[in-house]
Amino acid sequence: MQFEPGAADQHIADLARAAARDHLTPRAARTDAGIFPRENIAALGQLGLLGIKIDPTFGGLDGSNLAYVLAIRELAGACASTTVTVAVTNMVADMIARFGTDEQKQRHLAKLVSGEYLAGSFALSEPSAGSDAASLQTRAERRGDDWVLNGNKLWITSGDVAGVTLVMAKTDANKGSRGITAFLTEPGMPGFSVGRHEDKLGLLGSSTVSLAFEDVVVPDSARLGALGQGFEVAMTALDGGRCGIGAQAIGMGYTALRETSRILTARAARDKALGTEQNALFRLADMALRLDAAWLLVQRAAWLRDQGKKMTKEAAMAKVAATEAANFACQTAMQLAGPDAFDAGSTIARVWRDVRVSRIYEGTSEIQRLVIARSLAAGL
Ligand SMILES: Cc1cc2nc3c(=O)[nH]c(=O)nc-3n(C[C@H](O)[C@H](O)[C@H](O)COP(=O)(O)OP(=O)(O)OC[C@H]3O[C@@H](n4cnc5c(N)ncnc54)[C@H](O)[C@@H]3O)c2cc1C
Repeated sequence: MQFEPGAADQHIADLARAAARDHLTPRAARTDAGIFPRENIAALGQLGLLGIKIDPTFGGLDGSNLAYVLAIRELAGACASTTVTVAVTNMVADMIARFGTDEQKQRHLAKLVSGEYLAGSFALSEPSAGSDAASLQTRAERRGDDWVLNGNKLWITSGDVAGVTLVMAKTDANKGSRGITAFLTEPGMPGFSVGRHEDKLGLLGSSTVSLAFEDVVVPDSARLGALGQGFEVAMTALDGGRCGIGAQAIGMGYTALRETSRILTARAARDKALGTEQNALFRLADMALRLDAAWLLVQRAAWLRDQGKKMTKEAAMAKVAATEAANFACQTAMQLAGPDAFDAGSTIARVWRDVRVSRIYEGTSEIQRLVIARSLAAGL
């Protein structure tokens, strides 16, 4: 196993680090005030960071999965709201590149990757189908050369701003997960509407909405992948997405660690007893230990995907380890830094709020544990 970044991976990580420093960090407080980060998206689009794994003919960086997690970690350390938007766009672009027809790639990829679309969105979850995604109720019925979509999606990141949405719908109610098909919908389609904007605890600069499809006519040319392949499309997206969520969490965890070190060092300069007591040092060390161990799992999962190997179990391990390590780090940071961190505008307060959802979305920690245990039982 070899996941030392090569020169090309490192170049992408360096691009992301510079973009985080020049664009995301200066706007992080404003984005956290609930302002969608359009300027960040435009800057990242110019750099190719909205299509990290996409072919350069469409403006992407042709990067590896390892490069992807390195870049996402850098971006999330500066602004998680921007990063979640960027990660879903990358995920949708990746699925179009993997499963799309030439026509679909020509229609969407350059616009997604450049930022012209602002974002892509991924619509799987529904009011009664989140953890149990295969029980989704949105249906697509064949009508001549078209499909007619009806149903509701909930908690959809960037669903109101996306130029293209990857929607999972039932095309055969009798076939369970094999009766699900993926479609690419666009905002102007009659019958498509955006509902409630979620009022969230964190990720305040990212937009999360419900979507309604009422007799939305979608041409068969907008079907992504084969009939009945939608669940496979969704799970392929989530295997990669879970590495990305792990990397996001680690980025935030390290920001919490760095901020805490900075605050304790400043405190030690004022009052040695307060800044250097063993309790604080041990807890800082624990933050670093857990983050580093989890980061290795994230890199392993990304590396396995680069080798074309099945990595569903490893992606689940990476996500649960990274998100729990990062939540521990942010929680510990809040305690060690004390009032400095409890200030609503502090960086620690922001990552403490933003990191919490990483244990919930793209499969909760409980669901990841089920995936791990079932993979073990199946001898994988
Ligand atoms: C900010 C945000 C952004 C999101 N963005 C998107 C998006 O872009 N696209 C999208 O499709 N979805 C998105 N989601 C939805 C997200 O993926 C789901 O909320 C998540 O998968 C959990 O599903 P649920 O909401 O139905 O919760 P539930 O499934 O109702 O889970 C509630 C609790 O029950 C537990 N639980 C459920 N089933 C089991 C089980 N079998 N065993 C043990 N415990 C169980 C869960 O672990 C959790 O603790 C987003 C959610 C949030 C909060």
